[in-house]
Parts: sequence; structure tokens; C-alpha cells
Amino acid sequence: MKALLATLVASTAWIAAAQATECPRKDALGTSRVLAVDAATYPRVGLKSFPQTLPLGDHEVALTFDDGPWPATTPKVLAALAHECVRATFFLIGKPASEHPELVRKIAAGGHTIGHHTWTHRSLKQIKPGETEEEIDHGISAVEMALHGVATTTPSTPFFRFPGFESTPATLDFLQKRGIVVFGTDLWASDWNPMTPKAELKLLTERLKIAGRGIILLHDPKAQTAAMLPAFLRYLHENHYRVVQLVPAGAKAVAAGAEIAK
Ligand SMILES: [Zn+2]
Repeated sequence: MKALLATLVASTAWIAAAQATECPRKDALGTSRVLAVDAATYPRVGLKSFPQTLPLGDHEVALTFDDGPWPATTPKVLAALAHECVRATFFLIGKPASEHPELVRKIAAGGHTIGHHTWTHRSLKQIKPGETEEEIDHGISAVEMALHGVATTTPSTPFFRFPGFESTPATLDFLQKRGIVVFGTDLWASDWNPMTPKAELKLLTERLKIAGRGIILLHDPKAQTAAMLPAFLRYLHENHYRVVQLVPAGAKAVAAGAEIAK
């Protein structure tokens, strides 16, 4: 047990060190640490919907992007993140993922975490229970197919976010039984409302100043968000925020094994 713990601790340090040294630009924001999230400890997170959220410290943020992939804007978001060596979580919709598998693989190649956001982004509150499960599973298998060429309903990253945060007790139960973490969020930029990138930056930074930390929700298909992102990442750097990457608990153990095996 002690040896296992030592392995896990060592692997955490290794991942953090790898991310710190991977960045070719010294002045970049970077990704300060990796937080493994498992469904047993954190079945539902995000204060906008749930009483619990992730254990982020003061000035720590986790960036999340919903509704992609979208060819016109997702590459711009990826470029902005890569420029600052920042790793985020993308909650992908299955149908566009199946239409643009190369973009899904590009997100993964950037080292980002890929979660799930249903097949067609229908409100899971408005449809019949049987259809709810189909919407979730079809979405998962489309993303898995794009990523690994296998249409499985077992997600390699068991992270899920409801379209419009519209959960139901039955659907929450369905996901919990399968060990899938349900993500709400702690704050957002309201980027579903049209506004200039400048106005969006102002709104988001004001909200972050009040919250001081948290999971942040953005939408990579929104052009205004893609345009705002470089300035927002600079803002985070200049104001001493640190970016935390969220990964599934299992992936970390796998990473540890891979490193030890070398
Ligand atoms: Zn959405």
C-alpha cells in the first residue's frame, strides 16, 4: 500500500513537472497542477447546480468548454490554450464529434480532457426516460469512436455535463450508477448571449474576482469566446491565477503505471 501511495505521489509530481517543462514559452500562464476527479468522491460538482464543487484553492481555476467541436472556432480556442500551455476540459456533443473526428483527435492531441455532452444537445428534462439514456450513450459512443475508433458506451473519461444543466433525479441516478461524474460549473461568462469579446472579458473577470476560484464554463463554438480567450488567459496570468487540469482518477493511475514501466 505504501509503495502504491509513493507511486501515485511520484506520478503526480511527474505529471506536474512534465507540464511545467513542456511549455516552450517562459512567460506562459501554464497548467499548474492536475486534479484527478473520481465519481466516488465527487459524483456531482459545480455550485451553480449542486452543493459540492471541486477542491480548488484560492486563485485556482479549471477551464471547461462546451458544445464543440466546431471547425470555425475550436481550432482558435486550441491555439490560444496551446500558446499559454493551458490544458482544459472539453464537453463534446456526439453528432459534431462524429462529423469532425479529426478535430476531436486534435483536442486530445493538445493534452486536453474530453468529457461528454449528449448526442444532439436536447434538453434531457423534456424527453422520455428511454430517450434520455439513448441521448447520453449515443453521445459517448460517437466521441469514443472519434477518439479511439471504438463505439463503446463506456467513456474513457467518465465526465458528463447536462445540456443547459437540465438534470433530473432519474438521470443523475443513471450516471452515478455508472461512475460518471456530473459537472455543473461554479461560474460562467454567459457567452450564450451575444456580446463583444471585450464585454465578455469584463463580465467574466468581474465574476471571477468575486468567486476567487472555480470551474469556469465557456463555449468553444462561440466566436466571441474564441476572440476573448487570449486576453482572458493573459488576465489570469497577470492576476496570479493558476490553471488546474481535471483528469479522471483512473487516467492518473494509468499514467503512473506507464511512467514506472519506462
Ligand atoms: Zn451545452
